[in-house]
Amino acid sequence: MNRTQGRLWAAAVAALCAGATAPSGALNGASERAAALRHDPRFILEAVARRMGIRLRPEVPLPAIRLESRTPLARLQAAAEREWGFRPRAFVSVYAPAGNAIYLIDDATHYRRHGGTPDDSLAHEFVHYLQAAYRRDALDADWVESEAVSVQTWFRSEYMAPKRLAARPAPRARPETGR
Ligand SMILES: [Zn+2]
Repeated sequence: MNRTQGRLWAAAVAALCAGATAPSGALNGASERAAALRHDPRFILEAVARRMGIRLRPEVPLPAIRLESRTPLARLQAAAEREWGFRPRAFVSVYAPAGNAIYLIDDATHYRRHGGTPDDSLAHEFVHYLQAAYRRDALDADWVESEAVSVQTWFRSEYMAPKRLAARPAPRARPETGR
């Protein structure tokens, strides 16, 4: 692991904003432990892009979203090793630019413990995607993390407050949310 990779990984890990979930066995636990997204990922991406003043273009490939509940830890470890030369011991929320994939913690216990929601974590990782894919920012710069945290905080207050969620249903609410 060279210095740049180390820095990049440190920045990526800081991206969690809430720490990693404990390593678990069975494909990261039963699906009932998963916290469902309240908003459609596309809705989240569009909100984040607007906030950043970026116009989405159809020719720019969208990132794959790999939820912890459906992704073996080994897959994240292999991707992290390729991108940063480091194998995380637990699942983390992170954007992997070379593979253009977002790994996202969706473990309900994690969010109960640390606060936040999978939606605003996804908003955070979408910031890194937009920084890398649209603005070609170096993801190891210190300010890229500040921007991601700031947009995440904005998204949370704008779209995740209970009152807002009730008053403003997601464009394509997932059936299991019951709203
Ligand atoms: Zn980050």
